[in-house]
Amino acid sequence: MTPAQAERIAQFRKMAQDDPDNELGHFGLGKALLEAGNFAEAIPAFERAIALNPDFSKAYQYLGECYARLNQREKALEIFSRGYQVADRRGDRMPRDEMAQWLRQLGGQIPTTQTPTPSADTPSGFRCQRPGCPAGPFARPLPAPPMNDDLGRLIQERICADCWRDWLAMGIKVINELRLDLSEESGQRTYEMYMKQYLGLE
Ligand SMILES: [Zn+2]
Repeated sequence: MTPAQAERIAQFRKMAQDDPDNELGHFGLGKALLEAGNFAEAIPAFERAIALNPDFSKAYQYLGECYARLNQREKALEIFSRGYQVADRRGDRMPRDEMAQWLRQLGGQIPTTQTPTPSADTPSGFRCQRPGCPAGPFARPLPAPPMNDDLGRLIQERICADCWRDWLAMGIKVINELRLDLSEESGQRTYEMYMKQYLGLE
């Protein structure tokens, strides 16, 4: 584990302890542990996030991944199957597609659902660099930088319009649930930390 990973884990552990009913702290802790390769400890963190918010499709995806990496195939299949249905119902396209990929890899069944897969139009030549972005050659770039600064320009250069829209929805949740005051520097820093993590800009 790198010092940066250890610091990140400590940061989210504190967040999860200080605000135990906020699923984002547990989710962040689980993700930091997963990234550090500590799958066994990440599991209860994601389980807590799901218990607090049963619609948190991305948490199912990472929880299933922990079980898969620990070679607990049956448990992984169960979580991915549940998570797939949650993501599909909510229209969370990216976690849904990633869980479908896991289910295929593990030789499981993709649950049948009512929502048809949106048909792709024409390739745009733009590639979104967010890890796990499923748009591939069909990614649509943002028409303009979302903020008028270096970070905004970086986002326009690397992140597709769909991923940015997904982040805006998640960002509102982050602001509300962590009660961030964006007029304060500390609030802005926390918001940016979540945004960069979500978009894979670190
Ligand atoms: Zn994207």
